[in-house]
Amino acid sequence: MSDQNSRRKFLKALGTSGIAATTVSGKAAAAELGTGDKQTSLNSVNVSDINPKKVLLNELTRKEVREWIASGELKAAIIPTGSTEQHNEHMALSMDTEASLVISQLTALKLYPKVIVTTPVAFGICPFFMKRQGTITIREEIFTGLVYDICCSMKTHGINTILIVNGHGGNSRALRSSVADFSSKLGIPIDACSYWDSVSREQRREFTETGSIPGHADEFETSFALAAFPERIRRVTYNESEQYTWEPAKEDLDRVGYFDAKWFSREFDKSSFDESLLATAEKGERFIPHAVEWVSAKLLNMMG
Ligand SMILES: [Zn+2]
Repeated sequence: MSDQNSRRKFLKALGTSGIAATTVSGKAAAAELGTGDKQTSLNSVNVSDINPKKVLLNELTRKEVREWIASGELKAAIIPTGSTEQHNEHMALSMDTEASLVISQLTALKLYPKVIVTTPVAFGICPFFMKRQGTITIREEIFTGLVYDICCSMKTHGINTILIVNGHGGNSRALRSSVADFSSKLGIPIDACSYWDSVSREQRREFTETGSIPGHADEFETSFALAAFPERIRRVTYNESEQYTWEPAKEDLDRVGYFDAKWFSREFDKSSFDESLLATAEKGERFIPHAVEWVSAKLLNMMG
């Protein structure tokens, strides 16, 4: 089965025609929406009747946002957080941002019209990857400050429950240690999770052969991408000799806070690539609805 066919089947199963396509191209999404396929309904809402972009803050006009808030139906916001960082030889740097956005968007569609998804935070904390070209890292205080300012803005507009759905491991600790403070400053429920928190230690082998979740650019993330945005995966070979010919200046590395994370060794990088070859779209298609279900339950619980 081609990647394209597999993705269609996956979207159909979720009843959200066009969702992943919106992260790729608006035209493709519109084309998919225009097919008018009747989909299975989730809860009381027929998700296929909702324009998938309708839950994305930055796709709406101020009039649409104002009317949605005034309707009293909008109860919560999700802030997706990710990174712009190397994902081995075969994956686009946007992986973590796109994955958190897909989970957030599917959750908001499932809970429609209760939840809006803010513009994703596309930069994260990844100083340890700065020897790999392409990665952009931001300081922890900049990252948490940015997320806090987004919370403040949403609160100002009358959104009184906020869940941060994270897709980059390097952001997890900073988020976990900040949300209680955000919540007490703003006086509203604010929580954070990483989308793979939906998988318990015991469940890891239900979704992957290796049991490595979240890992980094290996079987798990590559399966997610094959299911949701296969065009962000390249079929390449791993040529180690090409990869260590460039070394940044020490002062530049110091400025971006580079440190040598012991877990990110040459051996780890090579074995992650080898494990990515176990990835299939079907594994991602099994995982994504599971994560959406889990995030939805968490958010519903916060909304009370
Ligand atoms: Zn990642």
